[in-house]
Amino acid sequence: MPSRRGNPLNTVGGLCRPYTEPRRGPPPASNACNHLISKDCQPSSAIPRARALAGSPPRPATRGRDDGGAVECNVSSTPAMTEPAPIDEVQLRLRQQYPEARYELDWSTPWELLVATILAARCTDERVNRVTKTLFTDYPEPAAYAAADLADLEQAVRPTGAYKTKAKAVQACARAVLDQFDGQVPRTMEQLVTLPGVARKTANVVLATAFGIAEGIIVDVHVARVSRRMGLTTQTKGERIEKDLMQALPREDWTHFGPAMVLLGRYVCTARAPQCGECIMEPLCPQLEA
Ligand code: SF4
Repeated sequence: MPSRRGNPLNTVGGLCRPYTEPRRGPPPASNACNHLISKDCQPSSAIPRARALAGSPPRPATRGRDDGGAVECNVSSTPAMTEPAPIDEVQLRLRQQYPEARYELDWSTPWELLVATILAARCTDERVNRVTKTLFTDYPEPAAYAAADLADLEQAVRPTGAYKTKAKAVQACARAVLDQFDGQVPRTMEQLVTLPGVARKTANVVLATAFGIAEGIIVDVHVARVSRRMGLTTQTKGERIEKDLMQALPREDWTHFGPAMVLLGRYVCTARAPQCGECIMEPLCPQLEA
């Protein structure tokens, strides 16, 4: 199996546009907006209008850092969209921006990807990759996890947080893979979700990333947040969001859409400060509260 390493955002060539850092530092000297709200520039009406669409009460029209007379604006100053973003256009733009979108976990076998995905719960991929660099050497196969001293395994995965639960889950998962699937990671959703520590999101990651099988769409916190902001769903539960997305997208887009939305959410449409002015979705996004 090929190793998936490196940040696909750095991919150059083809249609990929490398990620550019959002503007930082003091406001520009000119009166041009550049997403800085001042006497010369009014904030986008997108957020309050979007809140009204979503049935939420209005709130102050700006979000961002109050900087005396000016407020740094994370939202667009272009006219607000009032409709949900058209998902076919969303997917087109995702394919142009992230043609090789992949999960950013390091792995070289389906088993390694399964372990890394279990460890990635409420932890950054970067930290998981630091941990698995050693872990995958010390525990190369499911048999090694199954036979491991649990206390040792706990220490090995400790930096990923919730380490007792995760170590227990990984060991139980290894034993189930050995006992029920002859040591091979299963290739169906029905079988994968029987494994300890594996829910639908983890199963989708393994199926799509390791096997290229489209049984669903990866929905993590990033996909959930960005999908709601773009009006692609009003649901809050992962499986319901996934269902909405699966109904709206053709199956051939499922394996690309999830990882691409993860990248958009992780680097542009971030939880605290979405960079709408830098975002490829800005012309079609209603910028709903999420
Ligand atoms: S998807 Fe882009 S335009 Fe829409 S809210 Fe997120 S950052 Fe803003």
